[in-house]
Amino acid sequence: MADRALLVLNASKTSNLTSILMSWTCPKCERELKAPNQIHYCAKVSIDSLFDGKEKELILLFDKILAEVAGWDGVLVSTTPHCIVFMHRYTFLVIRPMKKALDVKFYSKAMLHGNLIVKSTGGEGKFENHIRVTALDDLTQQLFGYLYQSWQLL
Ligand SMILES: [Zn+2]
Repeated sequence: MADRALLVLNASKTSNLTSILMSWTCPKCERELKAPNQIHYCAKVSIDSLFDGKEKELILLFDKILAEVAGWDGVLVSTTPHCIVFMHRYTFLVIRPMKKALDVKFYSKAMLHGNLIVKSTGGEGKFENHIRVTALDDLTQQLFGYLYQSWQLL
């Protein structure tokens, strides 16, 4: 019951902010969520720790994607132990820092083809796609176009 009281207290303290941002911040892990009862991985993970031991260039690439995507309407950004998750109505983008690349996962209505696409799987109007980003040249208009379509879809 102590936890529940804490949640209620926190919700009322931040109610003004919540109504503006349409989100709720978990008092334990400080993740931004759509609703107080949303199931989530409840532990603090900093974005920096996800890049430990990875190619330094990847942080720059991530920042460029973040700067673009975080500006779209209603986007919430949160971290899990291995990924950075971007939500609109649902999760539409997941970025996983690998040793020498960012694995960028997003969704589309139709199967995608082309040399950017590492993998495109799924069906019934929802395909899951992976692109690997290793350099600034990889951050093309086409890539951001794909991410934008994923945002619109989800
Ligand atoms: Zn939490």
